[in-house]
Amino acid sequence: MVETLSIAVIGAPGVGKTSIIRQFIYNDFSEAYTPTRTRYVYRPSVILNGNMYELKILDVPPISSFPSSSSQEWLDLRCRGVRNANAYILVYDICCVESFEYVKMIRQQIVEHRESSSSEVPILVVGNKRDLQRQRFMPRRAVSVLVKKTWKCGYVECSAKFNWHVVLLFKELLGIAVARGMRQNHTSIRLQGALQRNRCTIM
Ligand code: GDP
Ligand code: MG
Repeated sequence: MVETLSIAVIGAPGVGKTSIIRQFIYNDFSEAYTPTRTRYVYRPSVILNGNMYELKILDVPPISSFPSSSSQEWLDLRCRGVRNANAYILVYDICCVESFEYVKMIRQQIVEHRESSSSEVPILVVGNKRDLQRQRFMPRRAVSVLVKKTWKCGYVECSAKFNWHVVLLFKELLGIAVARGMRQNHTSIRLQGALQRNRCTIM
């Protein structure tokens, strides 16, 4: 039996959401920007600390706000599955303050709009494009303190371009999700190829 965890990846356009997911699953990166127009679901299987999990990673296209109700979610195809995700990755570009403001707004809306029993959902804030850090708008330490202490979210910086901290961020989020018992359902084991780094293995 394998546990399934759905993870919604949300952020402003162009911050690198698709690049992070594709680097994690396919070890692939493209300099060319192809905006994500429709919701896309990736389903890798991973092993963390000896346990297998099936991930349902939602690459969410730009949305103006977190769906405030189930009916709003069903009316807007881009948001399907977003309200009931087991965990969130909120991505911003460390060189773009507006993309951080967007993450701030979405985090607030997740806390306000999810059912109260699930308000403790794991949220990991990810600062992408670390390779461009000379142009960052705020020191890493200041953002990290704000996100961890005030927002009570995890914080990781990565570079999808250079595959730096990409596996780490998924490992970090999974660790928090599993520790909080955010389990969805059980499905049968499906083994695909294998790629191993650290103790987090993508199957
Ligand atoms: P999305 O709209 O959030 O899905 O963003 P994409 O993943 O499509 O990436 C947008 C643009 O940023 C593309 O041109 C990528 O090549 C570029 N990009 C993504 N991640 C990085 C990164 O870590 N560093 C740099 N320098 N560019 C990146
Ligand atoms: Mg995209």
